[in-house]
Amino acid sequence: MNRFSHSFGLTNGLALLIALGAQVLSAQASFAQTPVSVADPETYELGRYTYSGHGSVNTHWIETPTSVIVIDTQRDTLHAAEALAAVKTLGKPVRAIFVTHGHPDHYTGLEQFREEWPDTDIYASAETIRVIETDHYGYHQVVRELAPEAAPGTFVVPNKVIEPDSTLSIDGVTIVTREMGPSEATSATALYLPATGDLYTGDTVLNGMHGFFLEEGSDEVLSTVDAHRVLFPDAVTIHPGHGNPGPAEDLLAAHAAYTVDARGRVARAIAEGLDPEAIVSRVEEELFAAYPDHTVPGGQPNMVELSVRGLVSELSEKPIVQRAVTDGESQ
Ligand SMILES: [Zn+2]
Repeated sequence: MNRFSHSFGLTNGLALLIALGAQVLSAQASFAQTPVSVADPETYELGRYTYSGHGSVNTHWIETPTSVIVIDTQRDTLHAAEALAAVKTLGKPVRAIFVTHGHPDHYTGLEQFREEWPDTDIYASAETIRVIETDHYGYHQVVRELAPEAAPGTFVVPNKVIEPDSTLSIDGVTIVTREMGPSEATSATALYLPATGDLYTGDTVLNGMHGFFLEEGSDEVLSTVDAHRVLFPDAVTIHPGHGNPGPAEDLLAAHAAYTVDARGRVARAIAEGLDPEAIVSRVEEELFAAYPDHTVPGGQPNMVELSVRGLVSELSEKPIVQRAVTDGESQ
């Protein structure tokens, strides 16, 4: 694993991205399971570039004997340059890049990678491609205006559609993909290496991070955690979009527990009749106190506040408040 340290202090544009709001699509993932046979021993090494502190995001890679497969390419040009430098030290061409979902902290660096390897295939789901192509979150324009040094000349759109539930073979590596549907973002693609049980989840699982619920999908976050258990029962290691890789069930359980806890705190405050602003300030404070070692996965300094706002909205509007209260009390 490669790990570079870097002082955090960029990407204020992402705050506006969030302020512009987001829509959660209603499409549901298909959870059909297809048996996969893995041919002969597969040879690869796994690596990662990241940095410490708030807003850190992972660029993962799978190094084959002759090439590199990259998963996610950073939130801004500065960190993308560091991720690119880390990949270049491997001395092998990037054969393919995967974008796990349509949040800009995972695709903004695509241009720099494509400049280095113009023929590389860039894979994403149709929904992720739509989000990038249409600037669904309004991020591209905002970052160009507020932090032009962090913006690429072009926000590259992936050129290879990952068909739902595919099994790909790239330079001798079997990669099983599953569309996980909307939860933390409008969509997410899980990438699984059956030869070794390594599972790349994007941001549907985080490790050591506050959850991100602004898109009002905490209910779906929980069901997606369960879907990972159903779809990838043999997963050994989860490589999240943010935070360290770790044992699959440990990460799933911890992410679900955080989500249930945060939902419970908000639901109880709603049940007490507090007004939304009072709920936001109280629960934000509670979460910082309850998880003192957690960082936030995004560049927004007020990301926990934004997440609580999403929970307040979600749990106020959906008829699940009572269930969330029950969830919280079962902690
Ligand atoms: Zn992310």
